[in-house]
Amino acid sequence: MGYEVWGLVRGQGNPRVRHLRQLVGDVRLVRADLLDQGSLISAVERVQPDEVYNLAAISYVPMSWQQAELTGEVTGLGVLRLLEAIRVCSGISASRSPGGGQIRFYQASTSEMFGQVSESPQNERTPFHPRSPYGVAKVYGHFLTQNYRESYGMYAVSGIMFNHESPRRGAEFVTRKVSLGVARIKLGYERKVRLGNLSASRDWGYAGDYVRAMQFMLAQDAPSDYVIGTGVTHSVEKLVDTAFSAAGLNWRDHVVTDTAFIRPAEVDRLCADASKARDELGWEPKIGFEELVAMMVDADTELPPAATARSSRPSPGNAAPGPRPGRPDVRPGRRRPCRSRRSGLPPGRRAGAGGSRRAGTAGR
Ligand code: GDP
Repeated sequence: MGYEVWGLVRGQGNPRVRHLRQLVGDVRLVRADLLDQGSLISAVERVQPDEVYNLAAISYVPMSWQQAELTGEVTGLGVLRLLEAIRVCSGISASRSPGGGQIRFYQASTSEMFGQVSESPQNERTPFHPRSPYGVAKVYGHFLTQNYRESYGMYAVSGIMFNHESPRRGAEFVTRKVSLGVARIKLGYERKVRLGNLSASRDWGYAGDYVRAMQFMLAQDAPSDYVIGTGVTHSVEKLVDTAFSAAGLNWRDHVVTDTAFIRPAEVDRLCADASKARDELGWEPKIGFEELVAMMVDADTELPPAATARSSRPSPGNAAPGPRPGRPDVRPGRRRPCRSRRSGLPPGRRAGAGGSRRAGTAGR
């Protein structure tokens, strides 16, 4: 697509790097950590991105209760450090605005910022009422991105993305937990899948469609924030029904509700009004709910037996239960200024972490 993509990885001997190499072998990697300002400046200097996509976060809501401070550091202050790295490397200050060819920054904001919603569907003007440390940290990142745009004139935008899913979704999120559960039951490895609140509703879309929206956002002449979602909402029960039906099974024979997966503060119902994205970006989702669920069930049914047969029992990093109601569970579960340099890649920009037209993408 004309992009030279760099991915930001952290840690020594990070076991995810091997997996990443198998999935996307042509992505170049740079080491840095959202907790370490100097490492981010070095990464931006090295990659010289045209675009930076900050997709990195502690994003699993129950985990954000278990490690609330770390969530604030990574999901919230990490945005500040990345924006500062871009600002410093671009030589931008209160008295020196960015010139042409500046680095464009995308922040992955989230519908979890709406939390206890005050109106439905939610658009760019709907007030935020987050219901978890994750949602609170994302609100910080969202307003900070807006402030860097307004204060320094930086090209910095937020996509308020509703839940976006694919066969690559982490196994702790409900869509993938269900698609993996269906596959294991279908293949005879297990008989039951344990879930929490079946009445919560989400506006679930396909992640590939949402990445297209991110690209569109950074290609606009003027930076602005957009809600991205399908405008159609389904309950967890409907998700379960659709997934089991796709495999010719009846969910009532296999789903057990378990209070361990009930959250202390639930976000009951989310539904996007993405009319601004439709009107200004020409963005529309291409994959609907049924197709998405069938895609995920099919992909998990076709996984190698070793991957499918693994136990789906809750584990600290996987389906970690949330805190009990009313009682949060705290157990674990200038060197030369590096100006943005257009790569001349047609027609693109360099993106990273983060995302090289050079795009840097920061993922955690
Ligand atoms: P979230 O919207 O970012 O929190 O995405 P999740 O996929 O983690 O959760 C979506 C909804 O599914 C929430 O309302 C959860 O309470 C609900 N849910 C019900 N059972 C489960 C479960 O076993 N695991 C997860 N992750 N969510 C569940």
